[in-house]
Amino acid sequence: METPNNEIFRDSIGTVTKEGKRAWIFPKKPSGKLYEYRKIVSYILIAFLFAAPFVKINGNQFLLFNVLERRFNIFGFPFWPQDFHLFVISMIIGVIFVTLFTVGFGRVFCGWICPQTIFMEMVFRRIEYWIDGDRGKQMRLAKQPWNAEKIKKRVLKWLIFLLISFIIANVFLAYLIGSDKLLGYITENPLNHLGTLFPLIIFTAVFYFIFAWFREQVCIIACPYGRLQGVLLDNKSIVVAYDHKRGEAENGRKKYRKNEDRNALGYGDCIDCFQCVHVCPTGIDIRNGTQLECVNCTACIDECDHIMESINLPKGLIRYASEDEIENKSKFKLTARMKGYIAVLVILTGVLIGMLMLRNEVEARVLRLPGQLFEHKQDNIISNVFTYKLINKTNKTIDDVSFKLRKYNGVIKLVSTQDYFTVPAKGLAEGTLFIEIDKKDLNGEKNKLTIDVYSHEELIETTTVNFLGPRSYN
Ligand code: SF4
Ligand code: SF4
Repeated sequence: METPNNEIFRDSIGTVTKEGKRAWIFPKKPSGKLYEYRKIVSYILIAFLFAAPFVKINGNQFLLFNVLERRFNIFGFPFWPQDFHLFVISMIIGVIFVTLFTVGFGRVFCGWICPQTIFMEMVFRRIEYWIDGDRGKQMRLAKQPWNAEKIKKRVLKWLIFLLISFIIANVFLAYLIGSDKLLGYITENPLNHLGTLFPLIIFTAVFYFIFAWFREQVCIIACPYGRLQGVLLDNKSIVVAYDHKRGEAENGRKKYRKNEDRNALGYGDCIDCFQCVHVCPTGIDIRNGTQLECVNCTACIDECDHIMESINLPKGLIRYASEDEIENKSKFKLTARMKGYIAVLVILTGVLIGMLMLRNEVEARVLRLPGQLFEHKQDNIISNVFTYKLINKTNKTIDDVSFKLRKYNGVIKLVSTQDYFTVPAKGLAEGTLFIEIDKKDLNGEKNKLTIDVYSHEELIETTTVNFLGPRSYN
């Protein structure tokens, strides 16, 4: 975005002093229409985030990312490491969707949906306003010596921050190990589960560090998504933007004076009140143009609208707009790049839906035992040995499971005392089996066999294996 101001801001970060120290941001408490909308969206998302690991569908946790045990539930559907291809396609779809959205609407995700912004601005920052007061009071409190008032406010705030960080860490853990396990550990003595208590303390410390101290630095220096803005945005992307044409006019911005004819004097609508800067949680001046630090939180839009209202000028000096709209008044249009992303997104989503529909709830793998070829047995019988693994992705135990050969006239013998076995719910069964076929029925060295898996008399899965025979039987 073109800069109406100087370019000094490009070489420095608003949160670092010339000496290289942290410049603490004391943003003014936002208010306005967009802030109210963001509050609603944020509280809905927080409720979802807190509820998702505790809600169950068909006995499955709604969202679960148990990396250690390699169990994943997405919207109540269990996924296994064997479904990794679906996970990869979903990730690619997610990346393309976010890219498309960013090309079209900039960092709108950061301002409205990102958990970091939501917790920081809608939970921790609001508690800070409640305890320490608005910007001016916070600045005074920071400067004042450690008297009783400051100690009381700081201790209260840090304790509340710690408690909320602890709650968030618990919810985070519920996503990782499962809510049932977590609740079990809580109701038992947590000291009996130090392997879980220890990560919980680390998560709590990390969340506390982020929300009490690191704050906007996450978005400015740690978040890789923020860094992508430079390559994703172009002058057609809609971002939170200052209308410099209107704000600066011919003779630039100028403080407001009553009964002054700014139009006649050639001054823009920006009255240089700095309210948009004071309200910014990342400490930038949006009037310098689009910047890496801007998380599109819209606080400056609301703030500038209040100012415009108070001096009877039209709102929207800072608004969602593209550079093209500000420069040439051109309306939002889908660009060729966006159309390309949409096409890829539609194709991949179709592929994912197709794969999900074809996905089997039971998965069988029969593999040749490494290093084994075949064995001659009496009566011209050829035997091959295999290992099998049967994965049950459902919540019900599958019993009376057996294998049958399709087409070939042979037998499958389990290395077990029983011909049938059971696969536990959300579990697996594995073992070894022999396939024996009369040599006259073989068609050479390599024979592709189809194995049907039955539970009682119901066919539940089919798999294939290569059965080896002697070359002389070709
Ligand atoms: S709040 Fe609006 S009028 Fe005030 S400095 Fe910012 S852009 Fe200019
Ligand atoms: S410039 Fe405006 S939208 Fe961007 S972070 Fe600051 S207040 Fe939020």
